[in-house]
Amino acid sequence: MEKMNEALSHCQVCPRNCGADRTNGKLGFCRAPYLPKVALVSRHDWEEPPISGTKGSGTVFFSHCNLGCVFCQNHDISQNGFGQEISIERLAKIFLEQQERGFHNINLVSAVQFIPQVAKALKMAKEQGLNIPVVYNSNGYESLEGLRMLEGLVDVYLPDFKYWDNELGLEYSNCPNYRETAAAAILEMRRQVGKDILDENGLMKKGIILRHLVLPGQYKDSMKVLGWIRKNLGEDTFLSLMSQYTPMHRAKEIKALSRKLTTFEYDKVVDHFFEIGLKNGFMQKRSSATSEYTPTFDLSGVMDAESFIKREEK
Ligand code: SF4
Repeated sequence: MEKMNEALSHCQVCPRNCGADRTNGKLGFCRAPYLPKVALVSRHDWEEPPISGTKGSGTVFFSHCNLGCVFCQNHDISQNGFGQEISIERLAKIFLEQQERGFHNINLVSAVQFIPQVAKALKMAKEQGLNIPVVYNSNGYESLEGLRMLEGLVDVYLPDFKYWDNELGLEYSNCPNYRETAAAAILEMRRQVGKDILDENGLMKKGIILRHLVLPGQYKDSMKVLGWIRKNLGEDTFLSLMSQYTPMHRAKEIKALSRKLTTFEYDKVVDHFFEIGLKNGFMQKRSSATSEYTPTFDLSGVMDAESFIKREEK
């Protein structure tokens, strides 16, 4: 059996290890189907400067997710599964089309549930001339087995490290053992890509940028995440400290999550960043805490012209 089908016939692509036979129409926790499903192909100008640069990052947003975050700002695609199933060949073509548009990189957003399909499409696209960096944008809840399918195919990892306290992971993202799982995944990502390499324009060619969203009431948890990063990845680690938390999706039903972050809370974490000797940080303006930065998912760029006509005729 070919590698992709083997991985999907008893799905253990992510730490959920559902064992669903996705080659046979069965669904696991994430509800992701056999074929890759994409909600939007677009340009992104608000990623960190080494990713978005001046020409933008070529994002490909995947449908479904292996987490169940109550505050997910992309819940239409992650939880409700909005998107279009496409072939592996079409996915490879999408990567090449993003390159032709002149973006700095291909940015795979939340692709964990489609790792085998993405790996196959990336190999195909690389054989056809894909040569810009591939960025893998992740929630951090990844298995080592899944990540190893991406070895040599991904240049830049952009993982979250969301929680230190596993109780928060359970309550807010419906996932067990988030801390240990994300920590091991991030070390595997570092092993794969080696040292961070930026070009003369400050664009990342290889490496890792970590992301951490500071949550209301949880600045002490954030400090523990930063402590782990300093100890295990070093003072030069690129870390994006996000203050954009906005109560979306089901967050309004949870008292602790029903408000925005305060300046006091965010500043506490930023101060800690410097106190423990971290050097490379991206901090967000508090004005970014708004839902207007959420993209509109409308299948733009997902289908080729021929399939689009067929779909319209249905
Ligand atoms: S990718 Fe989806 S089906 Fe596969 S193990 Fe993870 S949650 Fe389960």
